Amino acid sequence: MKLNYGQEPNGMYKLNKTDFDDIALSLLREHLATVVESPREVDINHLIKDCLYLDVYSKHLSADKSVLGLVAFEDTTIPCYDLHYNPISVDIVAGNIVVDLSLSGQRQLPRRRFTLAHELSHWVLHRSYHSPTNQVFALKKVDYLPCGDADIAIKKKTLKTDSDKEEWQANSLAAAILMPKFAFLKCAHQEIRRQYGAYTSSIIDKDDPERYRSTVENIAGVFNVSFQATEIRLDQFDLII
Ligand SMILES: [Zn+2]
Repeated sequence: MKLNYGQEPNGMYKLNKTDFDDIALSLLREHLATVVESPREVDINHLIKDCLYLDVYSKHLSADKSVLGLVAFEDTTIPCYDLHYNPISVDIVAGNIVVDLSLSGQRQLPRRRFTLAHELSHWVLHRSYHSPTNQVFALKKVDYLPCGDADIAIKKKTLKTDSDKEEWQANSLAAAILMPKFAFLKCAHQEIRRQYGAYTSSIIDKDDPERYRSTVENIAGVFNVSFQATEIRLDQFDLII
């Protein structure tokens, strides 16, 4: 998909928070239109593999689980570990997404899904200037971008470096893909009204922690995303005060 947004001299797209919804909705309308209006789990594997023709692999990416995922911008070789944590090298090609094996298993599914959407977002937003074959922009040329826990949890207020900004952009687009704007708002308003009454439009965590928790959990369950990702999305739409 072609992005028509201004770019910094280093290549990074200048994006504000509504742009992420526009990009996500355009991607979803083209490939997974049923999730745009109707609150449900976005099949991120289907979107990545069957719609965008990117491959996904699972490997031990680090010995200490500090790297959760990566995406390749060029054909390259990555260092990783075999099942016994012996160092190995694996050849991957441009567009391959690799997620850490620690994210396997049912309990890790929301984190794995967010990591997949985050890596897909790097591919959509950042490959045009990171790729070593592109010499137009100044940002560092890399064959692949590894992402750790801190990158995937980064908050807007902590953006100091180009890398922080890229991670924040990838997280913002990942959230907009997994919790599409219209479906999310429909679900959130319904759940808030159900829990707090017809005249409540936003919620406060301090007043009634149990009810707050159950509201966020129920919304998170509909989209199969984490509690934290749901809170961030609710906050983006001013549904938490
Ligand atoms: Zn990242």
